[in-house]
Amino acid sequence: ATPTALMVGTARSAKMGVLIKNGEVLQEVSDIDTVVFDKTGTITVGKPVVTDIIGDAKKVLTIAASLEESSEHPLASAILQKAKDKGILPVKVDKFEAVEGKGVRAKYNGQIAFVGSNRLLVDVNISQEMVSRAEKLQNEAKTVVYVGLDGEIIGLVAIQDVPKPSSKNAITELKARGLMTVMLTGDNKRVAHAVADEVGIDKVIAEVMPNDKAQQIKKLQDNGKTVAFVGDGINDAPALSTADVGIAMGSGTDIAIDSGGIVLVQNDLQGVVRALDISKKTFNRIK
Ligand code: ADP
Ligand code: MG
Repeated sequence: ATPTALMVGTARSAKMGVLIKNGEVLQEVSDIDTVVFDKTGTITVGKPVVTDIIGDAKKVLTIAASLEESSEHPLASAILQKAKDKGILPVKVDKFEAVEGKGVRAKYNGQIAFVGSNRLLVDVNISQEMVSRAEKLQNEAKTVVYVGLDGEIIGLVAIQDVPKPSSKNAITELKARGLMTVMLTGDNKRVAHAVADEVGIDKVIAEVMPNDKAQQIKKLQDNGKTVAFVGDGINDAPALSTADVGIAMGSGTDIAIDSGGIVLVQNDLQGVVRALDISKKTFNRIK
């Protein structure tokens, strides 16, 4: 494409809320065959809400909220909001510790307590009934966090983050253009598959630790794929830089936006379809 065609292409996309950093990025978009999406905040709205509490609701929420008060995780906000709605006040905890990609731990009334994924279930007793209830909730696309106190699981909190209204349509359009779609998430496999099924994603890579997201992109590239990664979070930055094209949500963290070659102002996956169409147009027109 001529420099003018590139300028026209990037200007046209900018008008549609798709900010493309330069002509080179626009060209790379026309080569991609695989689009990998982060789940939370990218495919989903990113505003998780507590839907179910298993166990003594007051006790479970009190402990969960007390631990999550020092956390910045979106799941923490959901739990704190629910506690607030129910008039439950968090209490002060000691030795708070955030375990990246897993949950939070602290001393609650002198006893070790935690809130998080099954990766925190080491040396604790959990009933078969609790396990099946968790699995049932996860199959409903709800993220389950276990609440543990003094070596026992005292309850579960189920948290749902619904897909953005436009996600399904955008994914359908990308598939219609022959692209493979992949979800990459730290969340549980059952939840990831349930959300993927809702929006029509082809392939799921779940239970990935924050530091391993970029490595998963690299693996796809090593298998001959040309990959776009779409994400919004701090822990998405390495994957955004590793991908052939990094696409950041405009609502994302600054570091994600800086790492992306494309920024989607409208925070909606339809922007990926637009970028693709404009890129194809720009590079097919002038041969
Ligand atoms: P994502 O890829 O969806 O951003 P993370 O890597 O941040 O997920 O977290 C993975 C999983 O670890 C979550 O689904 C949750 O089960 C657990 N987790 C992480 N942080 C917290 C927290 N503050 N409270 C409860 N659970 C947490
Ligand atoms: Mg995210």
